[in-house]
Amino acid sequence: MSYTEDRATWYNGQGLWPNTPGSDWGNWTWQFRNRITRLEQLEQYMTPTPEERAGILFASQKLALAITPYFFNLIDRDDPDCPIRKQVIPRAGEAQLAAEERLDSLGEDEHSPVPGLVHRYPDRVLFLVTDRCASYCRYCTRSRMVSNAQHYDFHPQHEAALEYIAAHPEVRDVLLSGGDPLLLADNKLDYLLGRLRAIPHVEFIRIGSRIPVFLPQRITPQLCDIFRKHGPIWMSIHVNHPKECTQALKDACERLAFAGVPLGNQSVLLRGINDDPEVMKALVHRLLRMRVRPYYIYQMDLITGGAHFKADVRRGIEIIEALRGHTTGYAVPQYVIDAPGGGGKVPINPDYIERINDQEVIFRNFEGRRFRYPIKSTPLVPDSGEIESGSERPAPEALASAKLAPHREPVLA
Ligand SMILES: *Cc1c(COP(=O)(O)O)cnc(C)c1O
Ligand code: SF4
Repeated sequence: MSYTEDRATWYNGQGLWPNTPGSDWGNWTWQFRNRITRLEQLEQYMTPTPEERAGILFASQKLALAITPYFFNLIDRDDPDCPIRKQVIPRAGEAQLAAEERLDSLGEDEHSPVPGLVHRYPDRVLFLVTDRCASYCRYCTRSRMVSNAQHYDFHPQHEAALEYIAAHPEVRDVLLSGGDPLLLADNKLDYLLGRLRAIPHVEFIRIGSRIPVFLPQRITPQLCDIFRKHGPIWMSIHVNHPKECTQALKDACERLAFAGVPLGNQSVLLRGINDDPEVMKALVHRLLRMRVRPYYIYQMDLITGGAHFKADVRRGIEIIEALRGHTTGYAVPQYVIDAPGGGGKVPINPDYIERINDQEVIFRNFEGRRFRYPIKSTPLVPDSGEIESGSERPAPEALASAKLAPHREPVLA
């Protein structure tokens, strides 16, 4: 996983499609129509490894193959270990099942009062509005339904979901996801956002989308107008590797930010792709430069055929340790494991606390130096009984001569 970051460069251009007119290249429907979805198409541009070939043939039973030309350009066709390639080109490992894996590893279907609406947390819901994406991530948590390769036959029930939200005043936060909500037509999105805005108890509306990464051309001025109209709409994009941070993505983020959309990023920790502190550091720095605040790093969910992506949880902790204190606080995401079976997201943190009791907390900093923070206050002048009885406060001289405790407790070791 050797990656060298060139901070001065943002990938740009049409790559393997030099003769496509710019008006087509920049048009999201052209990009969508010209996606690479079949082995023969892929072979026009690269030679898949035998492992990839087997994976592509299996994909039609698991999760469809689809890669936009724009995103395909980011693949290193000479490197089977390319971090972009592994995210979107299937490998034979997808057919290998492990005992701990589940189709619905987060128990979403059990927590769905209406198909496509997951109500797991007290005050917010996940609203799955479509099962289609611009490209398909081989490690997708919702592989069971997304792309419909497994015949899940997801039919979003938008009206029933809206009615449920309207009837539940405790729902103050609605997260639109899927599939990718930004594949809906403008008028459909306008309608859904308008309906949600009209529900007085819905305070917070956000969209989870990988469209800016796979299909930045979709972030049109018209779409931005819809976000402006119904704003504030927050958005979580999904970038896993610094190579995905191109000029086109940067421009799309700028259009969103200028339309008043606060941007966060969610990454999935993926073995051999981004489970490396240097790669993650390069990624979070690029994100900040694109006005995107790193939000979550997810441990890989236990989906069927996903084991080849699973990174060691200790790597994830090591990454957070390598970031916290060593770089901008805004650049440090929260690492979480979505508890298998449906326990929700649980923060997984490096352990900075060595000991804590009623008296004190002993902890270490990012450099490993140890500190003590007293929890219990010690009176500046101990009530030794020597001060004149009846006097409530120590004499000013006594205060002045008292040795002040150092503001910062000394390093213990
Ligand atoms: C991730 C998720 C949310 C949102 O969680 P936040 O921590 O608020 O970002 C809500 N509902 C479900 C089911 C989720 O998986
Ligand atoms: S964009 Fe999101 S929903 Fe779509 S395949 Fe990727 S991870 Fe799954």
